Amino acid sequence: MKCTVCGDEIRGKPYTFSYKGNTYYFCSPMCMAEFKKRPEKYIK
Ligand SMILES: [Zn+2]
Repeated sequence: MKCTVCGDEIRGKPYTFSYKGNTYYFCSPMCMAEFKKRPEKYIK
């Protein structure tokens, strides 16, 4: 599983955030915060 923001492989428990009915995974709280600032940038 890869981080939605930075693309790094996630080791251990991912940080998750649900947005518009989808769940996204992150390697760190910083990546999750970045996603929350600009979600449209990371959604394909
Ligand atoms: Zn990341």
